[in-house]
Amino acid sequence: MCSDKKEECGIFGIYGDPDAVQKTYFGLFSLQHRGQESAGIASCDGQYIQRYTGMGPVRKVFGDGDGILEKLANPMAIGHVRYSTTGASKALNSQPFLSEYSRGQVAVAHNGNLINASLLRDEYEAYGSIFKSTSDTEIIIHLIAKPSHVSKPDPLAHVLNHLQGAYSLLFMFSDRIEAARDPYGVHPLAIGKTPEGAFVIASETCAFDAIGAEFIREVEPGEIITLDKHGMSSRFFVKPGTIKPAYCLFEHIYFAKQNSFFFGENVHEFRKKIGKRLAVEHPVDADLVIPVPDSGTAAAIGYSEQSKLPFDMGLIRSHYVGRTFLAPDQKAREMAVKVKLAVVKEAVKGKRIIVVDDSIVRGTTTRGKMRALREAGAKEIHLRASCPPIKFPFFYGVDFPTKEELIANNRTLDQIRDFLEVDTLGYLSLEGLLECAKCPNDHYCTACWNGKYKIPVDIALNKFAMEHYQMQLFNEPTEYE
Ligand code: SF4
Repeated sequence: MCSDKKEECGIFGIYGDPDAVQKTYFGLFSLQHRGQESAGIASCDGQYIQRYTGMGPVRKVFGDGDGILEKLANPMAIGHVRYSTTGASKALNSQPFLSEYSRGQVAVAHNGNLINASLLRDEYEAYGSIFKSTSDTEIIIHLIAKPSHVSKPDPLAHVLNHLQGAYSLLFMFSDRIEAARDPYGVHPLAIGKTPEGAFVIASETCAFDAIGAEFIREVEPGEIITLDKHGMSSRFFVKPGTIKPAYCLFEHIYFAKQNSFFFGENVHEFRKKIGKRLAVEHPVDADLVIPVPDSGTAAAIGYSEQSKLPFDMGLIRSHYVGRTFLAPDQKAREMAVKVKLAVVKEAVKGKRIIVVDDSIVRGTTTRGKMRALREAGAKEIHLRASCPPIKFPFFYGVDFPTKEELIANNRTLDQIRDFLEVDTLGYLSLEGLLECAKCPNDHYCTACWNGKYKIPVDIALNKFAMEHYQMQLFNEPTEYE
């Protein structure tokens, strides 16, 4: 994966299973690619919700699962892995959030970004509300607790109609779990069922595979799913069909795990398809096709199959170098990058290679990889990106650089090629990308490439205002509540 852009968050929930907490733990493991800054689980025995959260990946927070999981053991649970898009990477922002209001306890886990969060927060603070975190998610709890919202016939549906932006959400009340997906369906959210009959909700279906659950269907945009003692039920907080979806195509290109299935298709198959299309659009005479692992691998396989050129692993990714690796100086940072992505000299030396990457964001990381291949003796380097040039920033829950930092924002193709120090450069066209996708073209968000934001972004800049709430707090110790 390219380190120019970061993953978002992953959520997992299960109702009515004696091993709900253990299954959540393994579900979070399989969603770890979506965030490693913090992890947490909230569980409930039908009366009292408790939670445990901490900084770092699931393994660091929960260890091997002994002890902590036993204390949390309950038949319903929700979990979260975090990459911060709004709100700093601090323990106070780790999820699920847990609060108490007039109707009892509620725990919340969120994937996405609420672009009107800071406006709402200003409003609530003006009336004296006190916030415990700097995350956009906390505003949802204040909305739930507001007396005029509590008295509505369907308080949750009412609250969701106040939110703007991208959100896949899990709520836990003492008697039920509720899942909701924003009306644009920006990020995926799926429903599964264990062989024992317990319902499961997760950001990606790879979490179902991990616990032996079967995929049932995706949560629809604008839908609320309730899991309780009566089983599963559904309702909509936005009339179906009134808003065109804006599925994030980057989920398929980069963020998601290859064995996941959403937006109507499997991620691996989609990446292979765009790799094939890339070979049709940008053929070149060469000896070998190599991927930038991991997210470029399937596209490189597709390119190799289409071009009939051999595939090999010229770059090897180490999964043991943590993303939060703190290198003290530039030299140490360079060594860390080399450890993370190592060149197999014997595979590339003297060869004309086609390198397939999922995308090129700032370009500096990509140039480092190309230099390493050149130093290893590659004779020619033909770089192919399995998505179009990224020209516009993103506001709905992914940490992308600003417009000025994007290499394709103000450079010609030749200038980018020269900057990256490669012999030729080819990007997949937007038409080609959309032709490979299963849903109708206007059901996807393509704003990264053409700037056409389906969710209005005029107030999105307020997300950055959230940082002004950043409190000078030290990382609190991990704790039970
Ligand atoms: S702007 Fe890009 S990253 Fe954001 S939802 Fe659209 S396609 Fe996804």
